[in-house]
Amino acid sequence: ADSDSVVNVDDLKKTYHSYTWRGRKHVQAVRGVSLQAQRGEVFGLLGPNGAGKTTLIKMLLGVIRPSAGRATVLGQSIGSPVARSRVGYLPESLRVDRHHTARSALRYYGRLSRMDAQSIARRSDELLELVGLRGRDREPVVRFSKGMYQRLGLAQALLHNPDLLVLDEPTDGLDPVGRNEVRRVIERLRDAGKTIFLNSHILQEVELVCSRVAIMAAGQLKAIGAIDQLADQGQHRVTIDVLQ
Ligand code: ATP
Repeated sequence: ADSDSVVNVDDLKKTYHSYTWRGRKHVQAVRGVSLQAQRGEVFGLLGPNGAGKTTLIKMLLGVIRPSAGRATVLGQSIGSPVARSRVGYLPESLRVDRHHTARSALRYYGRLSRMDAQSIARRSDELLELVGLRGRDREPVVRFSKGMYQRLGLAQALLHNPDLLVLDEPTDGLDPVGRNEVRRVIERLRDAGKTIFLNSHILQEVELVCSRVAIMAAGQLKAIGAIDQLADQGQHRVTIDVLQ
């Protein structure tokens, strides 16, 4: 793979083993996925719930270990401290302690990533502005709508200025207004040249923000390419079938 690929996944697999009263159970969540995402692109991973998207992301982040295959992030093996420190992550459901304000939440995460007070304050100002929370930054987050919460999550994921941003279903469960607001922030980041790996089951969202897309179902990739390319190849049908 060339040096510009920020995410490089080669035949990655994950089988979960669990124990039930009936005995051992195996779930092949990811069954040999290969893909590359390049610097400066918004790469979309599209697929229905249960397709294995979150599992793939968690392997990229080094949160869970692959059963087989290889992958690098920013040229580093997945899970290495360097790879972790240069990736920003917005999980599927962000939890912020209810006593926090947007600003104090960012301060807390900044300290966790060992940033100094001055850079935390400066980055927080910029990011609260970017996500449209500048005027609400001293309110307790319990008053926030789900969309505001997700936008705070984006600011948090960006705080340490990561080279790669990984977003897991960023607009899941939001109303149309919240969804648009979050999407606008992602578009702004894209226009600023950020590399983004985006998980979604919303076709329209992926069409609007992603340069390239992989379509995943039942642990495997069904198609990969530019979204208009996929449409030309009749793969759009695949997308729609997969999502129904
Ligand atoms: P979602 O959008 O719901 O998160 P997804 O595409 O991200 O869907 P995964 O969460 O990766 O899908 O799940 C893929 C499969 O692996 C599912 O069948 C799920 O039930 C199973 N799975 C996920 N995590 C575990 C686990 N810790 N133990 C056992 N099975 C799991």
